[in-house]
Amino acid sequence: MAGAAGRLDTRHIHIVALFVQKYGGTSVGSTERIKNVARRIAKFRAAGHQVVVVVSAMSGETNRLIALAREFQAIPHPRELDVMVSTGEQVSVALLSMALIDRGAKAKSYTGAQVRILTDNAYTKARILRIDEERLRTDLKEGCVVVVAGFQGVDENGNITTLGRGGSDTTAVALAAALGADECQIYTDVDGVYTTDPRIVPEAHRLSTVTFEEMLEMASLGSKVLQIRSVEFAGKYKVKLRVLSSFEEEGQGTLITFEEDKDMERAIISGIAFNRDEAKITVLGVPDRPGIAYQILGPVADANIDVDMIIQNVGHDGMTDFSFTINRNEFERTMDILKNQVQPHIGARGVVGGNRIAKVSIVGVGMRSHVGIASKMFRTLAEEGINIQMISTSEIKISVVVDEKYMELAVRVLHKVFELDQPS
Ligand code: ADP
Ligand code: ASP
Ligand code: MG
Repeated sequence: MAGAAGRLDTRHIHIVALFVQKYGGTSVGSTERIKNVARRIAKFRAAGHQVVVVVSAMSGETNRLIALAREFQAIPHPRELDVMVSTGEQVSVALLSMALIDRGAKAKSYTGAQVRILTDNAYTKARILRIDEERLRTDLKEGCVVVVAGFQGVDENGNITTLGRGGSDTTAVALAAALGADECQIYTDVDGVYTTDPRIVPEAHRLSTVTFEEMLEMASLGSKVLQIRSVEFAGKYKVKLRVLSSFEEEGQGTLITFEEDKDMERAIISGIAFNRDEAKITVLGVPDRPGIAYQILGPVADANIDVDMIIQNVGHDGMTDFSFTINRNEFERTMDILKNQVQPHIGARGVVGGNRIAKVSIVGVGMRSHVGIASKMFRTLAEEGINIQMISTSEIKISVVVDEKYMELAVRVLHKVFELDQPS
């Protein structure tokens, strides 16, 4: 990946870089804020840098469009929904380009399809397959700021697709990878990645660096500051990724690093993630025999529904219970599949479920070299009277499922007990 890195501008004696900058919904949430973003971009241009900008829809717009669609269909037709929600970003790119042109900058806006951000055809959660970046390079050479609509692409048949909520982050990192950018900067309404969501725990503090692995876990476990797929892309293509504030002029934000900092005594736990978008389903009285997990989860996977935690209890008298979690949005659809396709087929006693659960996770590469972290977590929750419904662990994370009403309490007590409120 050839970037502009290291190209020396001999007139000004400074390094000219190519930045991909992404501004989220809040950062472009009003005309004033869009003008503020244009001013910030102009500063980078004035310093000689090339800038590709990715923007989200103005804050609240994507939700408004989805709600509008639901007035017509309870579960909107996915293809039509994508045609519709992609308009939010289309408005933002045009407005930002106008703001830039008004300042005397050269700027051009593009939708995902115009760039040709080629995706698969999984409407509402499509994956980027390829980006035709030639045209963008030409614009950049001509001194243009290129403004690309986030969150959207096009499949090989020309259908508009979207990349899932928070997908503009992924557009930005994918463009940075395709263009060999020197840095992908995610500008948002907080000044970096925190030990946990600062809106829930005011004592949370910003991490100056976080390892790629930790960020991957945090994003996948619910920290919506970066969409998981953007972190996956950054890992795969070694994109230098930084999260920063769009409201502050200074600040280093948080850099996602690929190497663990050997010199630094890192905290054992780096962060706490949580996710309310969870639902749990239990298939009761399942015959305890080979192939049963496949018979239950096969039809769920065929419907393109992601399963997260899975628990199969110890069998009694040839019967067992089988529980798993899914995204709350897919709860009704999954219950339908289980009741109509799976239960009669395998002869289970029943299917029960609940969507008032939440997942709370502690994450840290330091866990690898420390024991007793899990017991400390479980003891802390027990002392607060919080019942743990499910547990799942990996080398660098421990997740528990709890009743949704205890989620915030769990996050706060864990943040305190692991001393995350004390800046390292
Ligand atoms: P944008 O619209 O810019 O994409 P998002 O709302 O998607 O912004 O993501 C930023 C938000 O992520 C923050 O306002 C914050 O509430 C939330 N958040 C959750 N976990 C974290 C975390 N660990 N660090 C920072 N922000 C977090
Ligand atoms: N506008 C989309 C959303 O609200 C994509 C994004 O903001 O990243 O999810
Ligand atoms: Mg976001």
